Amino acid sequence: MGKIAENIRMIEAEKAAAAERTGRDPSEILLCAVTKTHPPEMINEAIEAGITDIGENKVQEILDKFDKVQKVRWHMIGHLQTNKVKYIIDKVCMIHSVESFRLAREIDRRAALHDLVMDILIEVNTAGDEAKYGVAPEETEALIVRILEECPHIRIRGLMTIAPYVEDPEEVRPYFRKTRELYNRLSLINDPHLDFRYLSMGMSNDRVVAVEEGSTLIRVGSAIFGARNY
Ligand SMILES: *Cc1c(COP(=O)(O)O)cnc(C)c1O
Repeated sequence: MGKIAENIRMIEAEKAAAAERTGRDPSEILLCAVTKTHPPEMINEAIEAGITDIGENKVQEILDKFDKVQKVRWHMIGHLQTNKVKYIIDKVCMIHSVESFRLAREIDRRAALHDLVMDILIEVNTAGDEAKYGVAPEETEALIVRILEECPHIRIRGLMTIAPYVEDPEEVRPYFRKTRELYNRLSLINDPHLDFRYLSMGMSNDRVVAVEEGSTLIRVGSAIFGARNY
């Protein structure tokens, strides 16, 4: 077995163990392989090892790789500029990084032109980290309500958060817990265009803690593909 397949197998096993420790079904938790900076050959290797969902944080990388990679679900996980929505609207299955009404409105407009409904997550800046994107926890509900009122070509599937990078992932457990509590509360909003299924949290370093705190989608790059060379 190649290194990539081996890493995926190990991550799946750890994910399952963390889920079971907290009484959850491991199959509820999706492993999204983050392939930024990595070439199509490596992505195809991951797909052959069972990966069904891949994440990229730059529009240009999605466009460069889209036709060179086997059929797979693409996730836009990085900051998205409004003027670039048009390039990926018919390529990705979900946009994880919606943090403003302006961006949501453009996604809605472009989705309407393609006669589709786009799945999105609201990116929440739970740690209040000024260097990070995302909406403040206390502003999340108002943003969701406005999107539901004005954007019929959007379906809100949940929340995404990026924890601050720390050596010891135990330190970010409180942020994951807080995001989970917000997710549970907002999931009760009753609207046909709100269908919570994804709590996107956990990266290579903090994925086990994230699963223990209720993540249903982990975004893992370097633990699968190795360190990135920028
Ligand atoms: C790069 C990236 C990841 C994966 O990071 P690793 O530490 O390599 O697992 C996850 N989420 C987002 C938004 C990213 O940009």
